[in-house]
Amino acid sequence: MPRPGLRVRSLRKMKIKLPGGASIIHYFKRRPSQAVCANCKKPLHGVPRERDVDLGKLSRRQKRPERPYGGNLCATCARAKIKSRLR
Ligand SMILES: [Zn+2]
Repeated sequence: MPRPGLRVRSLRKMKIKLPGGASIIHYFKRRPSQAVCANCKKPLHGVPRERDVDLGKLSRRQKRPERPYGGNLCATCARAKIKSRLR
């Protein structure tokens, strides 16, 4: 039985197989929800679903697409916005 602080559904559980064959459970905090487009609410590609601690380990270009509005708008909405600004 895990200790009381771990007996919660808010933690993500992962079964780990040890070298000796024994199976134990590791507990992790859950990942944040998928980043979505600010305009059409579609899930954004190229934006990692990690906690802030793990995002700090990534380089800047691994955190969002390197284009205008990358990580905020999806490719379709970014293209439409840029076009509308040019006109
Ligand atoms: Zn969009």
